[in-house]
Amino acid sequence: MSLEPPPGAYRLSLNENLFLPKELVAEVVSKALELVDPRLYREAHGEELAEKLAEFHGIDTGEVVVGSGADYLIYLLAHLGREGGVAIVEPTFEEYERAAKLFGAPRVKVLLDGEFRLRPERVLSVRAGLVYMASPNNPTGNQFDKSAVEEVVEGFGGVVVVDEAYAEYGRYTLIREAPARENLVVLRTFSKAWGLAGMRVGYAVTNRRLASLLRERGMVFACSSLSLKAAVLMLERWSEVEKAVEELKRVREWMRGELGRLPVRVYPSDANFLLVRLPVSSSWARERLLEKGFAVKDVGRIPLCENCIRVTVPPKPVAETFIKALKEVLER
Ligand code: PMP
Repeated sequence: MSLEPPPGAYRLSLNENLFLPKELVAEVVSKALELVDPRLYREAHGEELAEKLAEFHGIDTGEVVVGSGADYLIYLLAHLGREGGVAIVEPTFEEYERAAKLFGAPRVKVLLDGEFRLRPERVLSVRAGLVYMASPNNPTGNQFDKSAVEEVVEGFGGVVVVDEAYAEYGRYTLIREAPARENLVVLRTFSKAWGLAGMRVGYAVTNRRLASLLRERGMVFACSSLSLKAAVLMLERWSEVEKAVEELKRVREWMRGELGRLPVRVYPSDANFLLVRLPVSSSWARERLLEKGFAVKDVGRIPLCENCIRVTVPPKPVAETFIKALKEVLER
């Protein structure tokens, strides 16, 4: 499957980081290559990165599990939850369902409300070994109320996975409280704010018991030595990463305001993308936008998202031309 947009089109469909300068990332990866010997196996479980992440977040190394993208941990967790069944808070990222299917886990879906809010009583009314939720959520963009997530963590009988892939763009994180909880696993990634989507590095933060269980069940040498080193070096560049995050948030709010002048509904976002509900068919609009040079994600077929597109927030000059293109599409 090719993910490339047609030549010349701008890809706003995969929530990648378009703000962090490519030169910075290239410099980090070249430096990483100088520091590792690709002929050798390096660490079975990304031990150096786990240690640096623990320092970065103020937790213990044993509470961090490193994997090949957050996706790797999503799959590992589906394996863990397969016997008791897996609950998924929807609409959300498709990978939870795919992972649960792969391991033959019974699945049960729990819907957000019409404003995409998490309703703890709905989650607590189902029985499952594990529940996945993304907060900030993809594709809706909102971070759930912290107290609602905590209510689920406290009342749910199984493992609660809170996928915080976009948390750097959000309002809070549960990382600091995960080690003290019995059943909370927080997922993070280097693919979004950290600009390393192609390097495939993610991690989980949880209590020591669940962390060692996940490590035991996971593959050894799941991450490339180059990717692990690049992530370690990227952590040292946090101030630049943070600057890019702040810039994105400014453009996001500006873009939301500008799009709001069109006959669409733009939902509030705590992520690096916006969910936009159109007054026309989203699949039709996606095709027209592609003709104008913008690839967006049509999410119109997923629950509660009828006629919605998901658009990655790009740097302001691109955002300006995108808004113009969408306006023309809607005027047709
Ligand atoms: N979780 C969510 C909510 C996502 O949207 C994505 C990527 N689109 C991922 C995880 C995947 O992250 P990674 O690249 O680390 O596998």
